[in-house]
Amino acid sequence: MMAGSEAAHRAAGSNRRPSRVRRVSTDDTFDDVLTANEDYVATFRLAGLAPVAARGLAVLTCMDSRIEPLSMLGLAPGDAKILRNAGARVTDDVLRTLVLGRYLLGVNRVMVVAHTRCRMAGGSEQEVHDAVLAAGGPDTRSISFLVAPDQPAAVRTDVQRARSWPYLRGTPVGGFLYDVDTGRLSQLC
Ligand SMILES: [Zn+2]
Repeated sequence: MMAGSEAAHRAAGSNRRPSRVRRVSTDDTFDDVLTANEDYVATFRLAGLAPVAARGLAVLTCMDSRIEPLSMLGLAPGDAKILRNAGARVTDDVLRTLVLGRYLLGVNRVMVVAHTRCRMAGGSEQEVHDAVLAAGGPDTRSISFLVAPDQPAAVRTDVQRARSWPYLRGTPVGGFLYDVDTGRLSQLC
């Protein structure tokens, strides 16, 4: 159902959107970002951008907040499909997404970008389960976090998995390591 003000707005035949975000919660959990979005809307410059990846790139990288996927590759909004998960692992869901990117969204090359000092690399699955528990979380042993004890080997295996995925046949896939201390990207495979 439309809110009263929205109904009146439409009845008036105006094309102008309401200038303030309609809030549905009573607490302030998201206030900072909703307020920032109002500023973003005021100077929004991406209207009309095509949904295809203008540079033909799909980039899978880690969720790590130290990584700026577009900036580190000299890309602008609209240039690439960005996929992120913990550890930049090629999961079933990543493969599903890449197939859509490849055939419907202009993707013709794929980068798998792991990074230095990744929490998902160099340790063991058990260490992460223990860390979650120590942080007050639940027993997560029924979950596989896809921790990579040997990170370069995991990147190579993941890249090979994408390269040999029948639905991505012929799509170039590269494996890279991003250094969070220098910003430098190195190709592994
Ligand atoms: Zn990471």
